[in-house]
Amino acid sequence: MYLTIGELYEQTVLKFGNKLALVDRSRNIRWTYNQWNEQVNKLANALSSAGVRKGDRVSTLLFNTYELATVYFATAKIGAILNPINFRLKAEEIAYILKDAAPKIIVFEKALEDEITKVHAQFPNMAFWSIDEPIPSYASSYHEITQLALPANPTSLDLSENDTYAIMYTSGTTGRPKGVMHRHRDMVEQSLICISSIGIKTEDVGLVTAPMFHCAELHCSFLPRVHAGATNVIIHHFDPNKVLEEIKEERITMLFAAPTMWNMLLQEKLDDYDISSLKIGLYGAAPMAPILVNACKERLGIDLVQAYGMTEMGPAITFLGKEEQLTKAGSAGRACFNHEIRIVKPNDNGPSEPEDILPAGEVGEIIVKGPCMMIGYFNREEATEKALYKGWYHSGDLGYVDHDGYLYVADRVDDMVISGGENIYPREVEDYLYEHDGILDVAVLGEPDELWGERVIAIVVKKRQNVTAVELELFCKNSEKLAPYKRPRRYIFVEELPRNASGKIQKFLLREHLHHEEVKKL
Ligand code: ATP
Repeated sequence: MYLTIGELYEQTVLKFGNKLALVDRSRNIRWTYNQWNEQVNKLANALSSAGVRKGDRVSTLLFNTYELATVYFATAKIGAILNPINFRLKAEEIAYILKDAAPKIIVFEKALEDEITKVHAQFPNMAFWSIDEPIPSYASSYHEITQLALPANPTSLDLSENDTYAIMYTSGTTGRPKGVMHRHRDMVEQSLICISSIGIKTEDVGLVTAPMFHCAELHCSFLPRVHAGATNVIIHHFDPNKVLEEIKEERITMLFAAPTMWNMLLQEKLDDYDISSLKIGLYGAAPMAPILVNACKERLGIDLVQAYGMTEMGPAITFLGKEEQLTKAGSAGRACFNHEIRIVKPNDNGPSEPEDILPAGEVGEIIVKGPCMMIGYFNREEATEKALYKGWYHSGDLGYVDHDGYLYVADRVDDMVISGGENIYPREVEDYLYEHDGILDVAVLGEPDELWGERVIAIVVKKRQNVTAVELELFCKNSEKLAPYKRPRRYIFVEELPRNASGKIQKFLLREHLHHEEVKKL
């Protein structure tokens, strides 16, 4: 039986009312489920009084805050549709999403006010609620409004598990952002899958540090912990020292972080912190070099669990358990419960055909089917039809499945380099380069080559300042792992790589810069 997200929350409150639910130490919040539920109800009633009805959108432009956690369940209880917006976006990008989603209300915070102020006049019919003082003239106070509202559970309405519960916009690396629509039941199913696949327990204390507007943190960690009656400790945004401090102080047992975040934690003085409470480390959203996974085991003392997926699928579609890291290193794991994965022949002229299945070991497009699949893109029928062609979500990722059903993600279709007719998956070259002690971060991509069509280049952030291109060339030349045609022909050193909030390297930005030969200025 499926529930709505509001019913899921109510069940937890009934079972674990007096248990510690939500902690935000920077704001002196330490709520049990009963206390949190009172705030959720007040907000739900306040939203209703403000005219928000079933199916209306409520947007947020917030870092990780207890208010965002509260909006999440308050909207669910009254059947409103949650639309959490990426806090890294600039004014016009935010305006694009607001025009598309057309919410009744946006809840925002002071730290992001500048961007909202630039565009607020474009939305005369939308209400602006700020969680911080002073409140700008065009906005109202979230706290004033909610504190005046009734703490009783909002009266039940005609809401079903098949109603839409959230619209989450993709990062737009492949065009304008698209609003991914999910139903209540998709997220309830996703939550159950995560609880069982990750092994989440009522006793767990999870740290919320990856962005909550992104589905990986929200649906693979935060929601399943609420579902299981566990505790969520929120920190405003990722800061490696703060993460280690919170692990020590709150005896955190579970942490989801993107690969780049794990890499940053590894650069800290770990001996200064007692992190022995940490039992579950989860990563996903982007590939992670095996050497970094091993470093987490050696230096942080934890075996990581990997999730692979995408917003459109809820997001997780595979998990690689910690006990499988050794036997199936480099794999993203096996399909989640009730999910089906196929590797099919890519088609240059349209969506790949689901019947063109490739044998084990052969690289093709990853297509997938499962109960948490989006119902479609908001206002984008054509894009929906293409993405969900013949009932399969076409991921745009390349990969293969081995004879045991384990998936290996090679790279994005768009990132593959073809040099002299040979396919090169940048991820493989990146994984090798990470093994060099002079490299902190690296992106491999193709650039035009008169003779070979394309050639490989590497854009590198140094860990050791005296590392040189000659040294890296030699490292690749002497490699047993890298065929000569895969070796980077050029190294460019930069201070930092552009990454989106979920930790993915924005290769399209690197390509644009390369086109103008501006990469060195990054
Ligand atoms: P778009 O490019 O359409 O705007 P996006 O970047 O917002 O999408 P997400 O849903 O955030 O999309 O990310 C999905 C993609 O992230 C996957 O298709 C895959 O390329 C990558 N990814 C996710 N998990 C992993 C993983 N464990 N290993 C490798 N790549 C991963």
